Amino acid sequence: MPGTMGDHQPAALGADLHVHSTFSDGQHEPAAVMAMAAEAGLLAVALTDHDTTDGLAAAAVAASRHGLRLIPGVEISSHCDRRDIHLLAWFIDPDHAGLRHALARLAGARERRLETMLKALSRAGAPVQETAVREQSGGHVPGRPHVAAALVAAGHAASVQTAFDRWIGLGRPGFVALERIPAGEAIALVRAAGGVAGLAHPGLAHAGRALPALARSGLAAVECDHPGHDPRQRRRWREAAQHLDLVATSGSDFHGSSHRHGAVGSESIDSTTLAALEARRP
Ligand SMILES: [Zn+2]
Ligand SMILES: [Zn+2]
Repeated sequence: MPGTMGDHQPAALGADLHVHSTFSDGQHEPAAVMAMAAEAGLLAVALTDHDTTDGLAAAAVAASRHGLRLIPGVEISSHCDRRDIHLLAWFIDPDHAGLRHALARLAGARERRLETMLKALSRAGAPVQETAVREQSGGHVPGRPHVAAALVAAGHAASVQTAFDRWIGLGRPGFVALERIPAGEAIALVRAAGGVAGLAHPGLAHAGRALPALARSGLAAVECDHPGHDPRQRRRWREAAQHLDLVATSGSDFHGSSHRHGAVGSESIDSTTLAALEARRP
């Protein structure tokens, strides 16, 4: 397992291309995440909240205070070959109208999913108030971790993990699938917004077979180094990246100090790789 926040991290001197804040399901405000990135010795960091760019403004202010380069990003809920995948987008213009519109559509879908989930949970004997979920999400778009936390607070589960296993994970009574953007469409949107797209944690998504089609659709990178990948998977994805002429990237997928994924900067690329990635901008 990767190091936790308590572990001593060596100076990273690179770029962590995948971190989350409270604007999606992270535990820390963007400013706090930027402070951690500076502390880790990073030169650059990409804030990639799920389906929202709303945390980027606050992150930019904090990053400049630390002399840190913020790469504007987002992690888009997508699908390819009937498989759910996450697409990382970097160097995007968060004000691009098409991208904003698509993300707003996804936020609307998350809101509708919440309603359906709460009805299903109530029928299954685990009622949770919508206000309790909103309290957990702190005013941001509510996701499953917030529902899980509300289930714990209501006494329906002993932990967030149990809440997923028993109530809202795949195949459980409160599970409702999320609407996603087809990968080809998402990649085109990212490029239209001036950015480059990469496939996040392919090992966790079992997305190997989708990779050649994604590359043909304009995918620029694949996240080879991720805390959820073992050394064999890392090697495998590096080979695939090389074979398909994709940039091999790294990201900690940081969500918070108590989350199972790594600390900010625990996975990073060097400045040469960052330049190669940036060179793929349209
Ligand atoms: Zn992801
Ligand atoms: Zn992520």
